[in-house]
Amino acid sequence: MHTVLHYPNNDLRIPARPVSSFSSKPLHDLVREMLKLMRQHRGIGLAATQIGIAEQIAVIEMKDAPLVLINPVLSNVAEQQEREEEGCLSVPGIYGIVPRAVSLHLRAQDAEGQWYETDAKGLFARVIQHEVDHLQGRLFIDRTTRLTEGLEKARALGIEKGGTPRA
Ligand code: ZN
Repeated sequence: MHTVLHYPNNDLRIPARPVSSFSSKPLHDLVREMLKLMRQHRGIGLAATQIGIAEQIAVIEMKDAPLVLINPVLSNVAEQQEREEEGCLSVPGIYGIVPRAVSLHLRAQDAEGQWYETDAKGLFARVIQHEVDHLQGRLFIDRTTRLTEGLEKARALGIEKGGTPRA
């Protein structure tokens, strides 16, 4: 069983490589484990990089059935952004405002290697961008314009945006 890595663990910064082998028991087991961990921690998304596996795999679960994103590709990323509060299972106790594109188009593979596509907006688009960031070694604290919670903890970790709006 893997555990969710916390900032500043360096493995969170490793860009994930594409998955090339599908329909295998190890891949299915990994996806099942990621869903379990995400639910245990009451998250709505989890990327493999967060458990120390540098492969392009993420899971998202909002209202509908869970979505498995393997080798995700974003397109039609809206220029228009909106600012909302975000948190992350790898940066527990710290929240901040993050500007994200309001909508995008996602193309990804499922655990069988089947490509699918979907349009996303609002929170769904935000979670997809957050998870794709993870797969590129990026965290929301790299993009936040203002931290809203956990300022003392952030300061102790050397996250320098505590309470100060960044232009
Ligand atoms: Zn996260």
